[in-house]
Amino acid sequence: MSINNHFISGLGRKTLLHKGRSQLPRLIVIHYSVTNTVAEAAMALNHEKLSYHILIEKDGTAFQTRGFNETAAHPGLSNWKSEKDIGLGNSVAQGSVGICLMNKGYAYDKTLPQSASAPGKLIYNPNDQSMQRWEKYPQAQINACHQIASDVIAAYPITEVVGHHDVAIMGKFDPGPLYDFSPLNALLPSPKLLGLKTTVDSKDGFLNLREEPNAQSTVLQNLANGAPVHVRSVTYGSRVACIQPSPAKRKRYLTAWASVSLGDDNQHAGFVHMGGLKSTPLTPTLAAFL
Ligand SMILES: [Zn+2]
Repeated sequence: MSINNHFISGLGRKTLLHKGRSQLPRLIVIHYSVTNTVAEAAMALNHEKLSYHILIEKDGTAFQTRGFNETAAHPGLSNWKSEKDIGLGNSVAQGSVGICLMNKGYAYDKTLPQSASAPGKLIYNPNDQSMQRWEKYPQAQINACHQIASDVIAAYPITEVVGHHDVAIMGKFDPGPLYDFSPLNALLPSPKLLGLKTTVDSKDGFLNLREEPNAQSTVLQNLANGAPVHVRSVTYGSRVACIQPSPAKRKRYLTAWASVSLGDDNQHAGFVHMGGLKSTPLTPTLAAFL
């Protein structure tokens, strides 16, 4: 398929209430819908004034809701490998394409008998620290997603394909453990972009790398002063955990915790408190609260 005037030729259209602004896409963000059908998803999206660029049924039938040069309201509060200026209320909506696959996620489990023959795959969810039965993505749906994403990669300066979970790392585990990013990553330049490169600079002489973004969480490793880290994503959390009060209508707040990779492998290694880093991607106003 080809992209003409920011629409994929031959794809069905679906109109959503949310209207975006103009953009140049650099990132593809994959999601699951928590619904079974595009009709259900469209109803929920219109109710919340949210949107994705692409909605894909389980049988692979896909719909485009807007041109790729228009933003969609899909990632919420989020950030990704920013060099600077992560502030309250930021979002990677600007500069990204949202693709949503119809899939119930692990909620699927609740309606199923707990037997070995039940559909879906039983898998450990580190976010919820429990075993959950995840709905599998049918091959026809995956094929449609790969076709659309590769068209987008061919037409725009896309640097990465990520999950919603990567850019909003304390949000829902989205698109979940059964989505395989490797076929699309293979189409992209390698190595991938790294996050803000900085070093550990703590008055204790070391910084704890933790499993979760809080001071009570398990310590995975001690990072000595001078050790290099790459900040991938800064987490949002409850008001209690935030580093500065923000407008009361926000449900989540920017915290002092960042997901980092160690060295150049570009993988999430754990969370660190940014007070022990030499520099952060936060705006100076926010960085002063660390
Ligand atoms: Zn999502």
